[in-house]
Amino acid sequence: MCNAKNKLEGKVAIITGGASGIGETTARLFADHGARMIVIADIQDELGRQVATSIGVGKCHYVHCDVTNECQVKALVDSTVQNYGQLDIMFSNAGILSSSDQTVLDLDFSAFDRLFAINVRGMAACVKHAARVMVEGGVRGSIVCTASVAGSCGGKRRTDYHMSKHAVIGLVRSASVQLGVHGIRVNCVSPHGLATPLTCHAYGMPADEVEKLFEPQTPLEGVVLRAGHVADAVLFLACRDSEFVTGHDLVVDGGSPTAKQPIF
Ligand code: NAD
Repeated sequence: MCNAKNKLEGKVAIITGGASGIGETTARLFADHGARMIVIADIQDELGRQVATSIGVGKCHYVHCDVTNECQVKALVDSTVQNYGQLDIMFSNAGILSSSDQTVLDLDFSAFDRLFAINVRGMAACVKHAARVMVEGGVRGSIVCTASVAGSCGGKRRTDYHMSKHAVIGLVRSASVQLGVHGIRVNCVSPHGLATPLTCHAYGMPADEVEKLFEPQTPLEGVVLRAGHVADAVLFLACRDSEFVTGHDLVVDGGSPTAKQPIF
């Protein structure tokens, strides 16, 4: 984790998928860096409330929001501005992984549609409504989306997941071009595989086994990718350290040649 503190002093942030994994870790890092308010949005209400309480009442607040429902996304963003004055940072991170049998020959389109509703349409709804309130409020905000190394390579399986993360990178590139005139930056982070509830569930393994699965795939030795490394990258894109960076895909992959090698 970065040592210099208070990179987000006074800022108001929304984190979707903030009840777990990368989102939860990023919420804790944002709090350490002096964010005035972090709104965690998720569908896991009990977990989300627990995370918000542990970060601190008055510093972090949980809101139920299913990103597949545009009305809920709009309400999340509008209530944040109403309650806390403005929105400076949107970390659009909620996502799911598909089952391993989604090869192109076996595509199940009901699963495909469900995944796209979250990973693509939900991501776009969060970017749309965050940008809307930033433009209305004259806020030169930062929007960060979670893509994946799967967004720049093909996969032996999980076709829909790879497609969805390519789409996230496309969303970020288009939105950054369109929103630059308002001083709003839009970037994404692309992590390599790491152990979170998402991958532990998908692979049916505990965290240490998932880590053993991914570790040999990265050339950088002596360090295992953890959610904190991804959160550091998100913090960089969210704060003024990256003031001239927009439309960028910040890959967090330990130098892995995954742009050419399928991992998921
Ligand atoms: P996670 O399962 O720990 O967290 C994802 C969160 O998103 C969960 O809390 C879940 O409840 C929430 N969510 C799911 N559907 C939602 C919906 N419809 N509305 C609102 N919230 C919803 O997993 P994670 O690994 O922290 O994943 C976060 C992001 O990182 C995802 O976009 C994922 O695709 C991406 N990612 C993960 C990895 C990895 O290996 N773990 C690698 C690259 C990218």
